[in-house]
Formats: sequence, structure tokens, C-alpha cells
Amino acid sequence: MNNAQLLQRSLAAVWHPCTQMKAHERLPLVPISRGEGAWLIDTDGKRYLDAVSSWWVNLFGHANPRINAALRDQLEKLEHVMLAGFTHGPVVELSERLSALTGGALGHCFYASDGASATEIALKMSQHYWRNSGKSDKHRYVGIAGGYHGETVGALAVTDVALFREAYAPLLRPGITMPSPDARLAAPGESAADYARRCAAALDACLAERHAEIAAVIVEPLVQCAAGMAMHDPEYLRAVRAACDRHGVHLIADEIAVGCGRTGTFLACEQPGVLPDFLCLSKGISGGYLPLSVVLSTDHVYQAFYADETARGFLHSHSYTGNPLACRAALATLDIFSSDNVLTANRQRAAFLNTEAQALMQHPRVRHWRQRGMIWAFDVADADPRFAQRMFAASLEQGLLLRPIGNTVYFMPPYVIDEEQTAFLLKGTQAALDAALESRA
Ligand SMILES: *Cc1c(COP(=O)(O)O)cnc(C)c1O
Repeated sequence: MNNAQLLQRSLAAVWHPCTQMKAHERLPLVPISRGEGAWLIDTDGKRYLDAVSSWWVNLFGHANPRINAALRDQLEKLEHVMLAGFTHGPVVELSERLSALTGGALGHCFYASDGASATEIALKMSQHYWRNSGKSDKHRYVGIAGGYHGETVGALAVTDVALFREAYAPLLRPGITMPSPDARLAAPGESAADYARRCAAALDACLAERHAEIAAVIVEPLVQCAAGMAMHDPEYLRAVRAACDRHGVHLIADEIAVGCGRTGTFLACEQPGVLPDFLCLSKGISGGYLPLSVVLSTDHVYQAFYADETARGFLHSHSYTGNPLACRAALATLDIFSSDNVLTANRQRAAFLNTEAQALMQHPRVRHWRQRGMIWAFDVADADPRFAQRMFAASLEQGLLLRPIGNTVYFMPPYVIDEEQTAFLLKGTQAALDAALESRA
């Protein structure tokens, strides 16, 4: 099958996600045939540096030999078994190791396959906890402006992205949206930490008034990724944790994008030193190999469900809950974190990129250059509505996979990007930026 045939058949038979299919009349699909470390290679042999880790999931490169070996080994033993009434080594070991990463504080792991399902689970668990505790009126959720928690109907109700919500508005339960602590929104002269405290105070006031009906606050710690890599001061999370404690409201940390080392610590919540009541992980947890998500919760929450009656138990399941292959990929991923001292190596990667990026930072159209851990972003001044698409296309020309969000260009590379690839990324970004801005004229 040649390229043209593959593209034509894909457009006829595959309905692509988050895509106006008609846009592909102008913008061709990219047919990928294999991956190798930080590179994706198309059917013609052209290479693209995967600077967005394939929608933020890939941590240690494509076709990683160590994860591949773990999966091969697991394939020969057990591909899947239902998790209701059964258990297996990989899911037990993964649960113990994830719990240990929270110092044992979040000791109970509930599994699903994608991030949105993890959000659904956390929302349902919180409400069911309150119901089991005799507080059936607590079933509303507080989210943050620009927050993103997935696109299933429950998760979309706490997702504040107008484009995603509007078409489905009649399906969504109204939630409460509080101001975003996004440091770019600080008043002139106001520090990021002061602005974060101001936003947390507004949240505190909301909880003081409405705690009787609020089950939980859901936040993306440190970086609201889908909002355009909006970063906030860790102080926000400390203040929100205190507000939740004061008013008897759960805190759900959605670390689906920011977990697994992305912000510089394994969990983003480690930086403010905050423990949520529920912690959601997905995306990078399987190294970008297989769909897997998990919600970690406290023993206190767990005990509220532990009883003789079935109806007090947590009533939720997916066919592939705790899939052994996905769990083995996750275990191999955690092994790489410990054996390669990844978080330390990433600090060096980040320092190198920051040094090399001086020219890009000085670009006359670049605003709000920002970085946390292995996430970089900048905004492009005076970008028109088609900028993101043009920048995406111009990046492909440079052999780069970049997918800007509105006027925000970001890098979220896999944790294997080396110095040569970093230089390639920066040079290509600069060229693509100039081309994308130029082609508007
Ligand atoms: C991607 C994402 C989700 C949804 O995960 P899916 O696997 O795409 O359903 C939820 N929350 C955050 C913060 C995300 O980045």
C-alpha cells in the first residue's frame, strides 16, 4: 500500500479524534510506519521529532527496548484476566509501587483505561463517599477556569473549554468554575504567589458558602496543560488544600498530564507538599504504550465503602480494568525512572534547553516564555486564528511534531531527548515560527 492509498483509505474509514475531517482536504494526514526513540518515521522514511510525546503520553521514546522486552515477557504469560474476583502479579506490584510513591498515604488503586474514566471514577467516588457518610446533598464539583479533565459526559462537566462544551451543553451537569491561578493573569506588580493566594481565597469563599452541596474540587496541579500550558505557583495548591480541609470538601488532583515526572517531580503535588484525597494518573503511566489510568485514594475514603452491603461498595468497572499488559508496561516505566535516575537527568535536559533557547526567547513575537520540569511554552503575539494550524504544518516541514494550542506553542518532549535533538527542536521551531507568521501575509 503506498502513501496516497493509505491516506485515502484512512480518511474514508477512520474518524479521527478532535478533528474537523473536512480540514484534511487541505491538510494531509501524516502516515507513520514506525517509531524510534524521540523520532516518528513516516511511510516515506521522513523523520519527525516527537516534541509533544504523542499527545503527552510517551516518556522514554518509541519502541523502547526495555518496555518492549517487558511486554514480550508478559505476552507469553497472561494477556488479560478480569479483575473482579481475580488478581495478578502486575496489578498488585504496580499498586504497591504507586502507593509507595505517595509515602503510602494514597494506598488504594482503582484502575481504568483512559484519563477521562479516571476523572469519572474520582467524581463518582467522592460523591459516593459523601452518600455513604450520610451527606447525600454533596454532589457538586468545583473546577478551575480553563480546566481540562477529559471529554466523557461527566468529565466534560468539569472541563472548562468552551469549544468542547458548547455542542454538548444539554448533557452536562452544571458545575462551579473558579478563577484560574494562571500566573499570566496576575495584576501588574502582583507576584505569582500572591495572585495564587488571591485565587485560592476566592475558592475558599465559595466553599464557605456552598460546602453543603459540594463534594470535591478538581484541579490540575502546577500546569493546566490543555488550557495552553497555564502555569501557577505551588502556593495555590497549599491554599486550596487548606480550604478543602476547612470546609469538608475533597481535593481531586488530576495528574493525568502533569504526573510521571512531567513537572520535575514524579508527582506534581510533591512540589507544594500536598496530598489530595484522590489522585488521577494516566497518559505517561504506561510509558505511552497502552491505555491505562488509575485513581489513588486514601484509606479514609476506602473505609467509607468497606461494609457488608454491596450498594456501599464502589460501583464501577471497565472490561479491561487492570489489564496485565498495561500494568507491565507501567512497571517497566517505573523501573526506568529508578534505574536511570530520570528526574535528575531531566533537570540537566531542561537546563540545556533553557540555555540554548535564548534566541527563541528573544524572538520579537514571543511572549510569556515559561517552563516547569519537562514542559516549555510561549505565546505568540498578534497570532491570527489560523496560526496553530499553520505552525503545525510549518513544523512538519522542519521535521518536527508540534501541535500549538491557539497562540501557545509548547514542547513536551520524551525524557530521552538528547542535546543534538534539543538543538534541532529549537532551530526548527524558530524556522517554523517565522514561516507560520510569514505565510499569513
Ligand atoms: C488528557 C487529559 C485527560 C483525559 O485523558 P484521556 O485519556 O484523553 O481521556 C484528563 N485530564 C487531563 C489533565 C488531561 O491532560
